[in-house]
Amino acid sequence: MAVYKHFCIHCAKLIPGDANVCPYCGAEDPFNLRCPRCRGPIEEGYKACPSCGLELVARCPSCAKDVPAYLRACPHCAASMLGTCSNRRCGNKQLYTMAVCTKCKSKVVI
Ligand SMILES: [Zn+2]
Ligand SMILES: [Zn+2]
Ligand SMILES: [Zn+2]
Ligand SMILES: [Zn+2]
Repeated sequence: MAVYKHFCIHCAKLIPGDANVCPYCGAEDPFNLRCPRCRGPIEEGYKACPSCGLELVARCPSCAKDVPAYLRACPHCAASMLGTCSNRRCGNKQLYTMAVCTKCKSKVVI
C-alpha cells in the first residue's frame, strides 16, 4: 500500500505522511506549527504564542524582513533563521532571536 505524502510546513517538500521528523530540513513534527519556545500549538498568522506569549515574528538577520518565527529559513532570501545553543554539549538549534536555549537555558548564538 502506498504511503501518502504530505508537504512539510517548514520546507514545503513532499515527505511521508507518517514522518515524525522531516528528512529534508530536520524539523520535528513536520505537519503541525509549534511555538519555537514552548512547543505549544500555533496557527499561521499568529503574532504571539497563546501559551507562552513569545512574539512569533522575527527579523531576518540577512535581509531584515519580518519572518514568521516558526520558519527555519527566511522565505525572502533563504537565510537560516536558526541560532545554535552556545553550550557545546547541547548545541540545540532554534530560532536565533531566542534569548536562551529552550533545552538548557544557555545563550543562543547565530
Ligand atoms: Zn521539511
Ligand atoms: Zn509558546
Ligand atoms: Zn531574509
Ligand atoms: Zn542548549
